[in-house]
Amino acid sequence: MSASLATVSYIGATILFILSLGGLSHPETSRRGNLYGMIGMTIAVLATIFGPRVSAAGIPWIIGSMVVGGSVGIFAARKVQMTQMPELVALMHSLVGLAACLVGFANYFDPSAAAGLTHAEKAIHETEIYVGILIGAVTFSGSIIAFGKLSGMIGGKPLLLPARHWLNLVGLLVVIYFGGAFLHTESVSAGMIPLIVMTVISLLFGIHMVMAIGGADMPVVVSMLNSYSGWAAAATGFMLNNDLLIVIGALVGSSGAILSYIMCRAMNRNFISVIAGGFGTGGGAPAAAPSGEAQPAGEAVPISAAETAELLREAKNVIIVPGYGMAVAQAQHIVYEITQHLREKGVNVRFGIHPVAGRMPGHMNVLLAEAKVPYDIVLEMDELNQDFPDTDVAMVIGANDIVNPAAQDDPNSPIAGMPVLEVWKAKTSIVMKRSMASGYAGVDNPLFYKENNRMLFGDARKMLDEVFMALKT
Ligand code: NDP
Repeated sequence: MSASLATVSYIGATILFILSLGGLSHPETSRRGNLYGMIGMTIAVLATIFGPRVSAAGIPWIIGSMVVGGSVGIFAARKVQMTQMPELVALMHSLVGLAACLVGFANYFDPSAAAGLTHAEKAIHETEIYVGILIGAVTFSGSIIAFGKLSGMIGGKPLLLPARHWLNLVGLLVVIYFGGAFLHTESVSAGMIPLIVMTVISLLFGIHMVMAIGGADMPVVVSMLNSYSGWAAAATGFMLNNDLLIVIGALVGSSGAILSYIMCRAMNRNFISVIAGGFGTGGGAPAAAPSGEAQPAGEAVPISAAETAELLREAKNVIIVPGYGMAVAQAQHIVYEITQHLREKGVNVRFGIHPVAGRMPGHMNVLLAEAKVPYDIVLEMDELNQDFPDTDVAMVIGANDIVNPAAQDDPNSPIAGMPVLEVWKAKTSIVMKRSMASGYAGVDNPLFYKENNRMLFGDARKMLDEVFMALKT
């Protein structure tokens, strides 16, 4: 393939990636967005393999690696449960970081990469290597820890080392110092020491940064690491002089940064304070209230499936609030059957989606789309929070943190200030979950003890099956 055809292909792929991002911004166009992305990536890969910069001798190596990598990817994608998707995404981010580190080292060792460069060009090339490895190492180790936290292998409680901000600052200064030393080394072997010191510090920083972040802030971390993986790819593009990689990396990096901003806004959090860590505790076990946090008062009143069906039958307005438990129970299909049944009877049923519901951005929207719930009855939190006082039944399906009134009422709560769906303002709220255990943030939920709240205990799918049976009789 000639150089000009490769360039045209790269431009075509870039346009497809931009269209893909545009498509992914709405559930109705997301399939098309995915398709654009897949076509764009196929063109990009083919143009790279058969482009002017890969020799014929290298092609079997690339194809062999692609077969191995592709098989692992297909196996992982087929095997992963929908609820494990966030962990898989974190693992994928770690691979982008690892790739950036390996490309950086390979580039540094490769004598041809710097051959013929002027002194200034060599300094720029080495800066690209240094910064690329730095971003890659932080992304790699941070994503591995995020994987551990999301999969529950590592507890959600933030690790708050004494003087942790000082530790980070010292780490940064050492990295800057060794960066200067690296640029002034004359030989590859002399440059290895600063490069390795920086890599180790960056790996430790990635671990420390994510370990210091508490359960409730994980959505921001996931999107932030997504952004870092984009910048790591862009840095790799600079090292390899590959324009397409720079553009794609920048697209992923900036869209991840925008998503982090949206997540921070959704949780009423300041980005810097999220990164500084310490927000949210625990990891899904029954929560003991942290000192200073008010203990919920009152008694949780259970309700049966038949009584739930009765309340739904008599209701005119119903709002369903799905959360992570709906994903675990895979209850989205039965939820939709109940919705259809109630709508046929003239009940106004809508869904309220919290921006951080579930375990990944858009998690609930994906599940509801899969069950074919019409988009026009799926509303964002801000669009329907004011409607709860006119709602007869608010049905909370496997959600917890996103409907916790302590976020508004208790300034000492670890989730204080986070906007929540105000289900307790409905005439009756029904919380469907298996026990009194806390949610991801590990915070007790006073909603369970409110006078107008009822608890429908059990697996969400099983209980909804029973509710549906009762509704039909
Ligand atoms: P939560 O984790 O707060 O609560 C989910 C609830 O579902 C649990 O309390 C659990 O209670 C219940 N549950 C689990 N399995 C079942 C089941 N089979 N049937 C019925 N109920 C079940 O989820 P939310 O969606 O309310 O909030 C999301 C949380 O996750 C927030 O803290 C958010 O910050 C965090 N997060 C979000 C991410 C994102 O990008 N969206 C990423 C990472 C974290 P029980 O065990 O009693 O059944």
